[in-house]
Amino acid sequence: MNQDCIFCRIVSGQIPAKTVYEDDRLIAFHDVSPQAPVHVLLIPRAHISTLLETTDDDASLLGELQHRAVEIARALGLDKTGFRLVTNCLEDAGQSVFHIHLHLLGGRKFSWPPG
Ligand code: AMP
Repeated sequence: MNQDCIFCRIVSGQIPAKTVYEDDRLIAFHDVSPQAPVHVLLIPRAHISTLLETTDDDASLLGELQHRAVEIARALGLDKTGFRLVTNCLEDAGQSVFHIHLHLLGGRKFSWPPG
């Protein structure tokens, strides 16, 4: 728990979130500033600042985040049309919250390459 981290404060319940899934390792909730009709963030309960901080011990956690994102996508009907999973790492990628998270985006077409 990092008191300065907005996502740690969501994990601890100090800041409300529209949660769509939680278990003992992960939480998923709607992004407060959605960039698509579906924009869900999946985060580990544990504070890890960036993907670069992950270690061999986090490999299963990273897999769980992706697997759960697919299950949530399916539950929200995105298996019919498709979806995008994104993790931004550091400034060049536009990371703004330094607690790792996977964006699940869907419900519209996305361009490639990303901006
Ligand atoms: P990133 O820029 O990749 O670090 O993504 C951070 C995301 O967190 C952005 O899409 C923000 O809109 C989102 N966000 C920030 N604060 C909150 C919050 N309190 N509840 C839900 N989403 C948030």
